[in-house]
Amino acid sequence: MNAVLAELLTAIALTMLATLTGWFAAGERGATVLLMGALAFFFLRQLWLVLRLIHWAGCPLGTPTPSASGAWGAVFEALHRRARLASAEREQATQELARFRRAAEALPDGVMILDGHRAIEWMNLQAEACFGLKASVDTGSRITHLLREPEFLGYLDSPDHRGVPLEFQTQRNPGRSLQIQAAPFAAGRTLLLVRDVTQLQKLATMRRDFVANVSHELKTPLTVTLGFLETALEALNDTPPQEVALYLQTAAEQAQRMQQLIDDLLTLSSLETDSPPPLEDPVGVADLLADICREVEALSGGRHRISLENHGPPGLLGSARELRSAFANLAGNAVRYSPQGGEILLGWSEESGGGARFSVSDSGIGIAREHLPRLTERFYRVDRGRSREAGGTGLGLAIVKHVLERHQAVLQIESEPGKGSRFSVVFPPHRIQS
Ligand code: ADP
Repeated sequence: MNAVLAELLTAIALTMLATLTGWFAAGERGATVLLMGALAFFFLRQLWLVLRLIHWAGCPLGTPTPSASGAWGAVFEALHRRARLASAEREQATQELARFRRAAEALPDGVMILDGHRAIEWMNLQAEACFGLKASVDTGSRITHLLREPEFLGYLDSPDHRGVPLEFQTQRNPGRSLQIQAAPFAAGRTLLLVRDVTQLQKLATMRRDFVANVSHELKTPLTVTLGFLETALEALNDTPPQEVALYLQTAAEQAQRMQQLIDDLLTLSSLETDSPPPLEDPVGVADLLADICREVEALSGGRHRISLENHGPPGLLGSARELRSAFANLAGNAVRYSPQGGEILLGWSEESGGGARFSVSDSGIGIAREHLPRLTERFYRVDRGRSREAGGTGLGLAIVKHVLERHQAVLQIESEPGKGSRFSVVFPPHRIQS
């Protein structure tokens, strides 16, 4: 305000000075000429400064304001300050946007922003991976042109999709199940959240199958037990005691089967939930093998030729209880799946590179190649009837697999139908105690 006043007063003073000078020098005419000259000078100066301002307004952002004195100097200074402030605010907004994008990139879920026409404005890497899209190519394209699955299109169109997720599969990313959730926000835009739920769905299916399998496995022996107990009760008065004892004996065998199944389930569950992995307790291998050998001989009841070859290191580091259970399962299977007169060899040897190998070879029924990859699945059996006959629960190799994983050991299976099998457990060097 002061600068404007000063400029005005200076202009009036200079105009009066010019008029008076003209008056004294050349009378009335001189005064008029100098007055007109002074007014023209002030007018042209204002015009020139306005033109500089217009020119500056057309320059790129950040160009310094023109310099001038007086009122115009104050105007330019004020504009300069505003321009600096705007530029700082812009810089801050850019940084915040970059921070938001980095945060959105770090999200475990996919995020996509659609404009009012369903065109992709932005998406993070997870969204690219889930939908099988490329941000560099597909940004700007309508999502409805890229993903054409009817349930997806229907979901986007439905007015009440807010808060209710949709699960679907897209041809752009075959074999994956996606869960999406749309949330409309400002100016007709939509925020699309996407998550790959393939693994979760697999787990849910596995859980359902597992419950169905357990129920089925328990139902059969339970039905048999109940049947024999009822028959025994009915026959109590008019049947010879030996016959009743036979019924009770069969019922007891079935109850034992159920008990074995429940024991195996509890072992599996404790292996799956017991974290951290087993302690590195020293386990004497010679004693462990001798125990397993005795158990196998008892199970065989003299029907097989059983031998033991121990050329390996004396100790293992791990859980004695878990290792015993895994070794006993493998050795027990060799007995149960080898006919009378079969040969079973338990072996413990060093591996090149510092590891060691426990192996169980048998001359039993063998296993066809196509079954080998699935043997460690829970309840997977090559021959269900034979497994039941042999008193199997279908959980033995699943237990073995878990124990070995917890000891960083691997299971190798070689087998030929009709000739026999060799199950080997290879331990890494850090599990060996020399
Ligand atoms: P099961 O209790 O039925 O024996 P496992 O998990 O121990 O369950 O084994 C899974 C299946 O693998 C068995 O049902 C059997 O078909 C096959 N199997 C395991 N060990 C042997 C073996 N030594 N010889 C032949 N088949 C075997």
